[in-house]
Amino acid sequence: MRLQMCGVKAEQKSDSIFNLFTHTLNDVIHDLFEHYSSITKIIRILAYCQRFIKNCKKIKSSQGSLIGSSHSNTTPLTFSETKTTEVTIIRWVQGIHFQEEIKNIKKQTFLPPKSALRSLHPFIEEHGLVRVGGRLQNSQLRFNSKHPIILPSQHTISELLIKEQHIAHLHAGPTLLAHVLRQSHWIVGGRTLINKCIRKCLKCNNLKYPPLHTTDGQSAKTSCYARETFLQLRYRLCWSCTD
Ligand SMILES: [Zn+2]
Repeated sequence: MRLQMCGVKAEQKSDSIFNLFTHTLNDVIHDLFEHYSSITKIIRILAYCQRFIKNCKKIKSSQGSLIGSSHSNTTPLTFSETKTTEVTIIRWVQGIHFQEEIKNIKKQTFLPPKSALRSLHPFIEEHGLVRVGGRLQNSQLRFNSKHPIILPSQHTISELLIKEQHIAHLHAGPTLLAHVLRQSHWIVGGRTLINKCIRKCLKCNNLKYPPLHTTDGQSAKTSCYARETFLQLRYRLCWSCTD
């Protein structure tokens, strides 16, 4: 009897865990963006969370037997898992910022005249992502290049993506960075955001403004002190490129 009670309690507890995860997935993504400044890290954390839920469901379906737990996946994340998580995150972001546009696309009606996506002829693909339409269907380009994923410049994801690509391409300038990003993502108002992100980059700023050179000892000391203070202030304002 006691065992039965324990079993019921355990089942109720596991149910509440599943409800917690299914009902607060959006909150989890929101919190991840609040706490982490790397898009790769956010994707990996969420991918592990989703795997954990999947493993729990496997255990639940096998009624908590040891056979079920032995099937739990504990290997490193696969490409498919990270890709699925990335799609989940982008779909969530698009759902917040392009709510009206998505409704119009689903109804197959015209987008509102003020919509920033109107000129992009967007469509929703099989995974539920909003992509750029256009006249490149017959070109030899890859699908991602022909139809990049549309992202809003207002959300942190765009800034994190720009930051990641800027560092991955050895602190690329705005033109190269825009070209690289458009191979897979189309950030609405992206050029302004790219310039803003590059201006915030500490390494690029240090290259742009080399150390001061003075001959007089006293003035050199003063200049160095002023530069150090300025750099310390800028460290607080800018995101670091050292990670
Ligand atoms: Zn840089």
